Amino acid sequence: MENVISLPLDRDRDARERRRQEALDRLEIVDTQAETAYDDLARLAQTLCGAPIALVSLVDRNRQWFKARIGTELQSIPREISFCDHAIRQPDRIMEVADAHEDARFANNPLVLGEPHVRFYAGMPILTQDGEAVGAICVVDHMPRALNPEQREGLAALARQATLLLEVRGFLAKQRAIMSAHDDDTRRLLAGQDALRQHNAHLQDVAWRDPLTGLLNRAGMEALRANSRVMARVRNAPYCVALADVDRFKQVNDEYGHAIGDDILCAVADVIRSNIRRGDYAGRLGGEEFVVLWPSTNLEQAREIAERIRHGVERLKLDAPVTISIGLIEGDAAEESRRESLERADRTLYEAKRVGRNRVVADTQTRYWR
Ligand code: GH3
Ligand code: MG
Ligand code: MG
Repeated sequence: MENVISLPLDRDRDARERRRQEALDRLEIVDTQAETAYDDLARLAQTLCGAPIALVSLVDRNRQWFKARIGTELQSIPREISFCDHAIRQPDRIMEVADAHEDARFANNPLVLGEPHVRFYAGMPILTQDGEAVGAICVVDHMPRALNPEQREGLAALARQATLLLEVRGFLAKQRAIMSAHDDDTRRLLAGQDALRQHNAHLQDVAWRDPLTGLLNRAGMEALRANSRVMARVRNAPYCVALADVDRFKQVNDEYGHAIGDDILCAVADVIRSNIRRGDYAGRLGGEEFVVLWPSTNLEQAREIAERIRHGVERLKLDAPVTISIGLIEGDAAEESRRESLERADRTLYEAKRVGRNRVVADTQTRYWR
């Protein structure tokens, strides 16, 4: 029957082994690609000790895995037959097996009896910076022998170099984790900014759009003045403004009801929208009054479009007949304030109403400054 009561000694050993394994796991080095720095250590150990086989080995849970190997194709071996597993039990000294045939621990080891025919072994434990022996740098020969004091000293020095390499590895892993956490933060920040931007765009849309017709509202038209791209086009060339007002709309509302009145406003907005191009702007200033801004457009061009809009409204097949009057002006930002041009557009609209409605009146006297 198995011994179910663990002795204090066993518990110590188990705890040590757990710490050791955790230290190795933290390094995330087992099963990684070969690296020149570790290959160099093995090469130096081989040359220094004049041995056919040199290894940088790591003792994992159930196996010994070679980070660097010279003189053997083995990549890993079971831990039960590992020489290094014995070496790491005394982390502060080299373990030397002068002749494996004469050593009861190894005489029947398959690595001794068969490939790669280990006869002599010398291994110096590799420690982490916390002193955990995670592996060993070792040399193997096919005949009984010993290391001389210089070789022992040299092998110990190489093991210390391996410790440094592991330390750098741990440091780089930490840096990478920090960088990646930083990347995550940056990504989150950017996503947050993006959401905020979308939210702002939505808010702006709500603030600047007339919910009934989908055209810009008065604030939206005002906001164009803060838009440098639009203003550059307004400033650098003649621009046109039209004020359009539904004729006798009060009567329509009274006769057909407010809901039909609303449908008419939407239909008029659609006609306006479908007649202007990208880069032109249309808004509903309130009530049944609409505005169109054509940057970089002269009076003749705008008059043609205004006429199309007027005609389009006239031809609408709605419950109530509907027409609009349009007052159109050409403005020059260099010569006239925006307020002045709007007042002029309003006077022109009034003129259109006065002379009979359902027409476009363009303010042709506006070129007085030319
Ligand atoms: P005119 O040809 O001189 O422009 O006459 P009008 O009746 O259109 O002008 P007036 O300014 O006297 O009337 C505008 C009417 O528009 C008053 C109001 O009943 C109506 N109105 C204003 N806003 C809305 C709206 O959002 N929906 C509806 N259905 N009617 C509105
Ligand atoms: Mg009206
Ligand atoms: Mg009106």
